[in-house]
Amino acid sequence: MQIAPQPTSEAVKALLDRAGEAKMLIGGEWTGAEGGRTIDSIDPATGNVISTVPDASAADVDAAVAAAAKAQPLWAETTPAARAAILWKIADLIESNIDELSELESLDQGKPLYVARWAEIPGAISQFRFFAGQAMAIEGKTITPSITYQPEGKEVQAWTYREAVGVVAAIVPWNSPIVLTAMKLAPAFAAGCAVVLKPAEDTSLSALRLAEIIEEAGLPAGVLNVVTGRGAECGSALAAHPGVDKVAFTGSTQTGRAILDASKGNLKRVSLELGGKSPVIVMGDADLDLAIPGAANAIFFNAGQVCVAGSRAYVHSSVYDRVVEGLAQYAGGMSMGHGLDPATQMGPLVSAKQAERVGGFIEGASKQGASIVAGGQRTGPAGTFISPTVVADVAADMDIVREEVFGPVLALQKFDEVEEVVAAANDSIYGLAAGIWTESLSNAHRLSRRIKAGTVWINSHSMYDPSLPIGGMKQSGYGRDSGIEALNNYLETKTVCAVL
Ligand code: NAD
Repeated sequence: MQIAPQPTSEAVKALLDRAGEAKMLIGGEWTGAEGGRTIDSIDPATGNVISTVPDASAADVDAAVAAAAKAQPLWAETTPAARAAILWKIADLIESNIDELSELESLDQGKPLYVARWAEIPGAISQFRFFAGQAMAIEGKTITPSITYQPEGKEVQAWTYREAVGVVAAIVPWNSPIVLTAMKLAPAFAAGCAVVLKPAEDTSLSALRLAEIIEEAGLPAGVLNVVTGRGAECGSALAAHPGVDKVAFTGSTQTGRAILDASKGNLKRVSLELGGKSPVIVMGDADLDLAIPGAANAIFFNAGQVCVAGSRAYVHSSVYDRVVEGLAQYAGGMSMGHGLDPATQMGPLVSAKQAERVGGFIEGASKQGASIVAGGQRTGPAGTFISPTVVADVAADMDIVREEVFGPVLALQKFDEVEEVVAAANDSIYGLAAGIWTESLSNAHRLSRRIKAGTVWINSHSMYDPSLPIGGMKQSGYGRDSGIEALNNYLETKTVCAVL
């Protein structure tokens, strides 16, 4: 395993060199944290410190919220076309800096360069372009009420406006930082909101670089503020802040609950994109040449650190042995290494802590009698690599089937009847996504209606587009990112009723 390639782009080197300065963006000023505290940014493949970011306190959050509150009304008064032009410019600038941003994301998060370069950063670009269009399509309604108690000779007319919700706290996780950030910023800016962004403490570098790009695109000072800090201090201060009107959160279900509790003080609007335990169903009539690599990709992409990862597979008994063997072969053939090494198909997990957690699930499954048919090892200088793991013969009550592992670990079960697989797939507290592999049109349509999940993919997995709403049912959260309805997260309806 080649472990330590260095960044090649001058821009990334320069950014890392500025590390000692550890600055974040508040009200158009690049500033350190109050008290000068910092957090180390670590290359997860090697465990080396590559940079530092400010460790923001509640006082820094106060300053960022005040800056957002000051900037927001003026931003909301700009024309939709002016906001659209800036969103489009942001997209263009991300595109022209795509190599540098990909390198930075790969280095800081551990993901293979191709994941950032060809999937996630293009995904972020398309979010800004999609919502540039949406900024100019926000509209209210005219309504004819049936109120009869108006003064004689008068009539009642009514209409609605769609107005920006105000100051938004965007709190995002570490698995796919830039694209998940774009999914919050683009609709929030389109709606006329100002944002205080808190990236995850393990992966803040790309948010800071993105903020520079957004400044360059001409977003007025204070419309975007970035506070880098820890969840327990900076994140919870933001979630509880009385000056924040809405929290847009992506992260774990456990933190989602804490955010909901913290929002009670001023009854903030909250949208929650939370965890998942997405089933992948392989029917007996599936095209296995597609289904096997498809199911492997559903779990091993980004080392399984994907909210919609297909982490439990249900395979029809008629093809079970072939699928287990195919998946084990696929997993065994994957090359692990540093994200910046072009040969790498799977990188490390984001941190030693996450790798330890994932390793614990594998060990637990093994002790409970499941068979590890591929992978299962934890390696690398920082103990952050988990080899692509396939676990067969699992039982429905095992932790590996019930809990979100968030690593490259697939749990496989056999089924015979459709009713049985529908019940098993729905037997989860989560309802984020599902994949169905079948050549039968009837199976595809009927199963997709019966699986309780925010997104169902047929003969595919993890297909994203800014036009497609994504979000959860059950404890996977509520509200949707992406798609036209994501704008609703950032808009309030005002009704005007007039006697004329
Ligand atoms: P996490 O919940 O630990 O952290 C997410 C963010 O919340 C981080 O910025 C963190 O600092 C912050 N945070 C932590 N505690 C906080 C608190 N008390 N108050 C406010 N903020 C706090 O999640 P993670 O481990 O960074 O990310 C992995 C999780 O994210 C997984 O559960 C995954 O499924 C989920 N996720 C969901 C989606 C989706 O669209 N549904 C997408 C990606 C990731």
